[in-house]
Amino acid sequence: MTPGPRTSSPPVALSIAGTDSGGGAGMTADVRAFAACGVHGAVAVTAVTVQNSLGVSGFHPIPPDVVADQIRTVAGDMGVDAAKTGMLATAEIIAAIAAVCDEVGIGSGRIPFVVDPVAASMHGSSLLADDALDAVRTQLLPRATLVTPNLDEIALLVDVKVVDDASAREAARALHALGAHAVLVKGGHLEATSGRRQDECVDLLSLATGEEHEFRSPRLDRPHTHGGGDSLASSITAGLARGMSLVDAVALGKRYITRAVEDSYPLGAGHGPVSSLW
Ligand code: PLP
Repeated sequence: MTPGPRTSSPPVALSIAGTDSGGGAGMTADVRAFAACGVHGAVAVTAVTVQNSLGVSGFHPIPPDVVADQIRTVAGDMGVDAAKTGMLATAEIIAAIAAVCDEVGIGSGRIPFVVDPVAASMHGSSLLADDALDAVRTQLLPRATLVTPNLDEIALLVDVKVVDDASAREAARALHALGAHAVLVKGGHLEATSGRRQDECVDLLSLATGEEHEFRSPRLDRPHTHGGGDSLASSITAGLARGMSLVDAVALGKRYITRAVEDSYPLGAGHGPVSSLW
């Protein structure tokens, strides 16, 4: 039976992020995760990257007022139920995003706002200017509903080397002290920082109230994980756009990313992406 025309709008999630010409990471991963998780994806492009499976060979930041205008235009028409940031490129772009988010009600306890503090690609190319880290600390973390750093980003932001549960909690406390309402410490890189074999991938969700939750999945050794971090943050954002609690949204994100990594595929001569094709 052909379904009749839809008469109601789906929730809207907004990705504020960079493009990936290879279609694996950044905003391209976000929009795929949004669709797979049942929400409409809107986009505010912060930078155009030139990249393929072998890495990023260039990036071109978008003028800050154009980034802000994209957010304002979407919010003023279709509305935004949750937003997330990915690659932000420069301190000037971050300042423009912070200002327009205040204007349209994203973050600071209003529309859920997930900050994925993307600093570099898995090949080591910088996606954030060195002088922009401080803007992430002072302008984004205090507005964030949830911040989703990996262990390298934690070292950059708060100078804590996460090697075990105690240091994961110390990192979360340091990020709360910078104003983040909730922190998801992603344990995916723990094998590298601790030097110990990990059979599970454990993510710690820490709330500023002191509440904590652990999310566990079997550790999958897959060569194709390009866009994994973006996909986790954007599937959590989709859950928040659908009105889920933070804990339920993170559980949805963890299920999504586990399946996306399980189903990841080779593409090109380098690292292929996590999947959204099932
Ligand atoms: N390109 C863009 C635009 C991104 O936003 C990101 C990560 O957020 C990457 C590349 C790097 O992704 P990965 O580290 O999974 O290769």
